[in-house]
Amino acid sequence: MPVKPAAPPYPKRLYLFDIDGTLITSGGAGETSYREAVAEVCGSLAPLEGLNFAGNTDTGLARSILSAAGKDPTGEAIVALHDTYLRILADRIHRHQGKLLPGIILLLDRLKERSDCVLALLTGNLAAGAEVKLTHYGVWHYFEFGAYADDHHERNQLGPIAAARAFEEHGREFTPDQIYVIGDTPRDIECGKAFGAITVAVATGKYSREELSSHSPDFLFDDLSDVDAVLKAIAPEH
Ligand SMILES: [Mg+2]
Repeated sequence: MPVKPAAPPYPKRLYLFDIDGTLITSGGAGETSYREAVAEVCGSLAPLEGLNFAGNTDTGLARSILSAAGKDPTGEAIVALHDTYLRILADRIHRHQGKLLPGIILLLDRLKERSDCVLALLTGNLAAGAEVKLTHYGVWHYFEFGAYADDHHERNQLGPIAAARAFEEHGREFTPDQIYVIGDTPRDIECGKAFGAITVAVATGKYSREELSSHSPDFLFDDLSDVDAVLKAIAPEH
């Protein structure tokens, strides 16, 4: 009688985590560093007027800011602004009272031990900024790869980039119904929907449960502290 081959140990789900307001709060270190970099490079904070940091990408912000400052947002000008930002952030991250958000360590531990779950990042941070922040809070090592502001200035373009990177890393395609985008802003929800992924909103950032709910995420949590309930919803066992 033929032996039924064992199910291949393929990863079956891809979890794409946002950083600020979802995994951690940097206690304002990120935004303050960006503001200081703008003041240093542009000579004033005026170009920041009316800009919403939440859910934006650092490269998107840089393009808007440099244009508002009357500068050509060339690659070189953006790199100069970001080098300044990263230098300031590396110092400020130690001086602000940030924290890991509720349930994060346990949730990451539980997902990481599962062979059917892949953990990665989808964030408006620059890759280097993401590393500074998550290393400081001790969670950088959980994530295999990421899609970052370096990859595209529009967040909605980052989902397919993350999926392509997952294919490179794992040699198999993750279909949108196997991909979860987890974030704290309407822009995270929009970004997940833009490539057909499952959207998971968490009200630990600047947006309330009600505000997030109006953007119709597939799942919505006040925070991720009830890890069993979160896993039951977004990572049910086979
Ligand atoms: Mg966020």
